[in-house]
Amino acid sequence: MSSNCLIEKPHAVCIPYPAQGHINPMLKLAKLLHYKGFHITYVNSEFNLKRLLKSRGPNSLDGLPSFRFETIPDGLPPTDANATQDIPSLCDSTRKRSLPYFRDLLSKLNSSPDCPPVSCIVSDGAMGFTLDAAQEFGLPEVLFWTTSACGFLAYVHYHRLIEKDASYLTNGYLETEIDWIPGMRGIRLKDIPSFIRTTDPDDIMLDFWVHETERTRKASAVIFNTFHDFEHEVLDALSTLLPPIYSIGPLHLQINQIPADSELKEIRSNLWTEEPECLEWLNSKEPNSVVYVNFGSITVMTAEQLIEFAWGLANSNQTFFWVIRPDLVGGDSAVVPPEFVEETKERSLLANWCPQEQVLSHPAVGGFLTHSGWNSTIESVCAGVPMICWPFFAEQQTNCRYSEKEWGIDMEIESDVKRNHVEGLVRKLMEGDEGKEMRKKALEWKKLATEATSPNGSSFVGLDKMVNEVLLSP
Ligand code: UDP
Repeated sequence: MSSNCLIEKPHAVCIPYPAQGHINPMLKLAKLLHYKGFHITYVNSEFNLKRLLKSRGPNSLDGLPSFRFETIPDGLPPTDANATQDIPSLCDSTRKRSLPYFRDLLSKLNSSPDCPPVSCIVSDGAMGFTLDAAQEFGLPEVLFWTTSACGFLAYVHYHRLIEKDASYLTNGYLETEIDWIPGMRGIRLKDIPSFIRTTDPDDIMLDFWVHETERTRKASAVIFNTFHDFEHEVLDALSTLLPPIYSIGPLHLQINQIPADSELKEIRSNLWTEEPECLEWLNSKEPNSVVYVNFGSITVMTAEQLIEFAWGLANSNQTFFWVIRPDLVGGDSAVVPPEFVEETKERSLLANWCPQEQVLSHPAVGGFLTHSGWNSTIESVCAGVPMICWPFFAEQQTNCRYSEKEWGIDMEIESDVKRNHVEGLVRKLMEGDEGKEMRKKALEWKKLATEATSPNGSSFVGLDKMVNEVLLSP
């Protein structure tokens, strides 16, 4: 590529928060921007670079001449562990230590003959330190919050929850209805993102969210991986509190704009090695006959909870595919009882990690037992798959509540999970009228999500507007 051509391109530096649920949607957005003519620098943490090279092979991050990878340290002590990092430590560390590394990277890119000067920053909302760099370098910056809009709206009100009544910081009032957040109805304290459940006003996560949501106001614009029809009330409420908002999701439908034979398709972002054999196993199953179970990349449960889920699934008599991440159980490797494996071997498949989007869109999958992570939720919606939710932390509680009450596509398992409850809900999901009704609803949402990301749809237009009005604005 000639240097002239490079100089003509706008150059977006895309920096995700260094965890799986953030890397995936940011990579999709980066690919879409590349497709729309941007030179891309995608910034991983050094820790995740090592993991990506391990899971995807040594050439997996070669990129393309105009889609390059860079790294910065996350500030935590180096380790060879192939597991999720401690989230509070990571939040604290990136917030306090990453700015100088990021600033150096921008200077390096600006003096490099191999790329055009940086023209804009697309940063994860949880990497708000990048706003300081954007200001110093005189660049527009879009903050990408990879949460649901409803979860984010609740975070924005953390400071008021604390000010209004310090007792909100205790666990005793989880059923209290919060009826004063504009744009939210029927919300209880237990549906507010879980970091509020602390009695320590200096709690790292509470402090992190209060400050990072406040910092969002400095961005040139804010984007969410959602669509208007799905969350319009909360998006409307947020638009009175934040810089211009663009809803551009679901990104994994939006990405279908990129032709199937594009070289971009080869750039992937899984931190664990995928086990694609599960797709062959699913091929041998009847439509809507398999329960897919996956608690995402961060959830940690106790060995007892794992056993309750195992026997609940076994006793439901349904066919299931269960992804058990090696670090799913805290302090130990996740092991299910051998009797459970023996009893269910004719109707189950276990794996460590899978290509989730392909699994969810496989016709054999009829229901999803999930932790309500936002990516998992929106991926399930796009596949028209109803859910059983066991929210773990952060805004997963809010996602679960909205999935049940606003969107009609889930049933919740209580946090103190018991096998009888799992068994009952799995049967309802796969065989009951509730399951049928939720599947019908999920298919309606899938249709609306597809429309939103088709030409002239709200998210399709939203992405173009964000690019033209913010990233390319002089
Ligand atoms: N994922 C995957 N394979 C797995 C488990 C998860 O590809 O076996 C992907 C999933 O498709 C989603 C992301 O990892 O894009 C998890 O993000 P989410 O927001 O659902 O949850 P988190 O991991 O952040 O708790």
